[in-house]
Amino acid sequence: MHVLIVEDDELVASGIKAGLELHHCVVDHVRTGREAQQAQEQFNPDVVVLDLGLPDVEGLEVLARWRAAGVRTPVLILTARDAVQRRIEGLEAGADDYVLKPFDLDELAARLRALVRRSAGRVVAEICHGDLTVRPSTGEVLLGEEPVSLSRRELALLEKLLNSRGAVLSEERLKDGLYGMDTEVESNALNVHIYHLRQKLGKQLIITERGVGFRLGPPVRCPGAIT
Ligand code: CA
Repeated sequence: MHVLIVEDDELVASGIKAGLELHHCVVDHVRTGREAQQAQEQFNPDVVVLDLGLPDVEGLEVLARWRAAGVRTPVLILTARDAVQRRIEGLEAGADDYVLKPFDLDELAARLRALVRRSAGRVVAEICHGDLTVRPSTGEVLLGEEPVSLSRRELALLEKLLNSRGAVLSEERLKDGLYGMDTEVESNALNVHIYHLRQKLGKQLIITERGVGFRLGPPVRCPGAIT
């Protein structure tokens, strides 16, 4: 899961970032409304954590602009405990959920997962694709009964493909979900991750659409399974 944090308070932001990384998320952090706008366009995160009090543009305005432009990325807003009116305005402007400061990081991670799940049309915490089972909240991946060890980026890539339900994803789109904006990405990095996923979970897992991108293959079967 790729999370964009929009928060000008460095201490709060770095706490959230560290906490979400422990929950197997790829996290980007920006400090202003303008940067939030750019980041959203640039890499289309799975979910956004939006502080309402930003130094340039109001968080509410960033949100309203996104919704007016048809951006449907789930957004969770951060508000002060006593700011009931702001919370209502946030929900009316198109926020999907909110947490009150100070908040518990485990709860925040669970709520973000729920939002991403809902936006992908799923109700359960587990994603299954044939004999492949992925539990995004714990980072667990099982092939049949066998646990498979994936890196954080391999896991993020796999989740993206599973959530896309067979649609072709461009290389750019996939790459954007894997790396922070500040990271210099080697041109073949995506192919390396895809190679590793195929090695670990089977060649058919990811189908290459030449010149277009990649899509999820047919349901994965265990190597020893009788079909
Ligand atoms: Ca703030």
